[in-house]
Amino acid sequence: MGSLEDSPHEVIARVFGSAYRDFAPLRLRVRGRAMSATTLIDRAPNGAVRTDGKVALVGLGRDEISAELARIGIEPKKIRMRTKQIFHWIYNYGVTSFDQMTNVGKPLRAKLEADFTLERPEIVERLISVDGTRKYLIRMSPGVEVESVFIPDVSKTGALCVSSQVGCTLNCTFCHTGTQPLVRNLTAREIVLQVIIARDDLGEWPTTQENRKLTNIVFMGMGEPLYNTEKIGDALDVICDPEGLGIGRRRITVSTSGVVPEIGPMGERTSAQLAISLHAANDELRTQIMPINKKYPLKELMQACRDYPGLSNSRRITFEYVMLKGINDQPWHAKQLIKLLRGIPAKVNLIPFNPWPGTDYVCSDAETIKSFADLVNAAGYASPIRKTRGQDIFAACGQLKSDSEKKRASAIRKAAKA
Ligand code: SAH
Ligand code: SF4
Repeated sequence: MGSLEDSPHEVIARVFGSAYRDFAPLRLRVRGRAMSATTLIDRAPNGAVRTDGKVALVGLGRDEISAELARIGIEPKKIRMRTKQIFHWIYNYGVTSFDQMTNVGKPLRAKLEADFTLERPEIVERLISVDGTRKYLIRMSPGVEVESVFIPDVSKTGALCVSSQVGCTLNCTFCHTGTQPLVRNLTAREIVLQVIIARDDLGEWPTTQENRKLTNIVFMGMGEPLYNTEKIGDALDVICDPEGLGIGRRRITVSTSGVVPEIGPMGERTSAQLAISLHAANDELRTQIMPINKKYPLKELMQACRDYPGLSNSRRITFEYVMLKGINDQPWHAKQLIKLLRGIPAKVNLIPFNPWPGTDYVCSDAETIKSFADLVNAAGYASPIRKTRGQDIFAACGQLKSDSEKKRASAIRKAAKA
């Protein structure tokens, strides 16, 4: 295992090193075909009710499991104990059948079986790169599919890049995801399920198993996590629970384009490592390529970074900087960046731009990136350049775009009735 202190930074370097193209535009497919279950999902607790009325327990938090047990009539004084048992079976052992819950009596197991399921959402597509990167396209609910990507060899172990929203509202000009309208926020349950699916696929149950590869989580998938802070917080309560999935809070990194008012509260709520998608060190250019900068300019963003809870030299903020040829890659840009970061425990991840169909941007030349990195490095900031990995599974990712489309809830209901 990597050291707790440096691992999140290393994670980001390696995550981006694993070909942002694999997951940068982590996109969803929203299918035209909608099913009648959509209406059920609208009223389901945390999106967990099936068409047959059974509640899917996997992905739910302790309180939600307790509420479900109360609903099916478990004696109030036994609910806490039963919740603890079930939580442990689901998140420590990864069981897929109630019969495996050997410390739960047979009659109760039968009752659980009648009311609940331990099923996972369907993996619509699973791609494995020659370098071991794994990409999952997961159907969370009828018509809504999201991707997550497992990148091995991050921080001596591996990291899962998860999505927080289906689509994105922010329209950063260099980002493919930004061309895809927001469909909806993911629920906490859907965020947890991305981890469960990867753990299943990697065969890493129980949590106590040694040499687990999935040790780090990065919120660098589709969407802006800080527009879904509450659900990220709830999901992390499950993901980081030591009696369950057991992923350390210091091994969680949340990346934001700069939703200033949410940065501090997110840090307080989650104790996660912070990554900022900076990409430009002056307001004029940043607003041009990241419209959110108009609302939350650099001065406010940098202040929020300075105030981030728990910052220290061993807990630095990672600033992500995509290298766009002729736009933000000149030596004077590097100098501006160095000035901007002064006084902040920081590390810079330089991400070679990954082109996508229809973009006018081009990636900076290798020498330009190297010179930029050298300048930042000489100023005392680590500035790794990401390596490209997982290229061979990029084709499928590009194909997703044609299917991606926003459907209004009303249109989905109408289609379901037709
Ligand atoms: N919305 C959040 C989380 C996404 S993280 C955020 O923006 O921080 C994904 C990272 O990849 C962000 O730093 C994003 O700016 C960057 N990125 C987006 N498009 C890219 C591209 N085409 N090539 C390289 N990096 C890109
Ligand atoms: Fe892409 Fe910007 Fe949305 Fe992040 S905030 S996913 S970079 S459009």
